[in-house]
Amino acid sequence: MNRREFLIRSSMITTGALMPRKIVKLFQESPFRPVRGDVGYFLGRGGTIGWLSNTDALVAVDSQYPQSAQAFISGMKERNTRTMDYLINTHHHGDHTGGNKEFLGYADHILAHENVPGLQKAAAENRGPETVANQAYADETYTGKWSNDMGSEKVHCMNYGPGHTGGDTVVYFEKANVAHMGDLVFNRVYPFIDRNGKADIANWIKVLRTTADELESDTIYLFGHGNPEFGVQGSKEDLIRKSDYLEALFAYTQKSVNEGRSLEEMSEIRQLKSFEEFNLEGWSLSLASNIQAAYLEITEGTVK
Ligand SMILES: [Zn+2]
Repeated sequence: MNRREFLIRSSMITTGALMPRKIVKLFQESPFRPVRGDVGYFLGRGGTIGWLSNTDALVAVDSQYPQSAQAFISGMKERNTRTMDYLINTHHHGDHTGGNKEFLGYADHILAHENVPGLQKAAAENRGPETVANQAYADETYTGKWSNDMGSEKVHCMNYGPGHTGGDTVVYFEKANVAHMGDLVFNRVYPFIDRNGKADIANWIKVLRTTADELESDTIYLFGHGNPEFGVQGSKEDLIRKSDYLEALFAYTQKSVNEGRSLEEMSEIRQLKSFEEFNLEGWSLSLASNIQAAYLEITEGTVK
């Protein structure tokens, strides 16, 4: 088989052309996707759940919403009979912590950056009493960096200051060499910049570059959300692309401010030059909302 034939055959295998139909269906339908080593991710509704599952450790990263958290937990119980050692929240947003309550009694601990419980409480109070009643908060928090040997795996949580929110965590599974970025990366789409949740675009750019520098060149990254064409699993290049986008957003907005243009005027552009793929049809977050966040950060500073 020459290289071209090999590539065609390989692509046929991955698209399922050579697989029996039943196996293809199972493969396509399982929301549990192995990534590398004992680490994988789960797709339900909301931010991507990451997991580490082996005979001596069980960890989840983020909890989505109650219903998909239940689906995750029941599927995981079929795969691993351990109780869960940790649920780690990458940040406080409802599509990452809304299922926390379902993990009580299943996960021994919920871990998050020290700013998360406060931000989560404030966001829930904004939404009303029903949301407040449905929260479950981290019982263990950390500042800066947290590391723990979990069976054969070593798990690290890193906070490099504010970015997407004021309490973001990068979760790194060292042996598997897989990192969950939470919403620090909305892969190749316009991100949510949560100004009221203490976002900081200028530092966010640094967080992504520091992460890409500190981890391995072949680290596999998982993202909270992604453009379907690119997915929620990627590489260092995707982190650089996101930080380049944020940098271009900030530079464009700063230049517009310097030239005395109003927010309305600077928001009229359709896309940032050379970031065409971020313009996903039907995506709920707009470039205009990103420009507004950058404008407020430049003119008023970050929210303290
Ligand atoms: Zn988020």
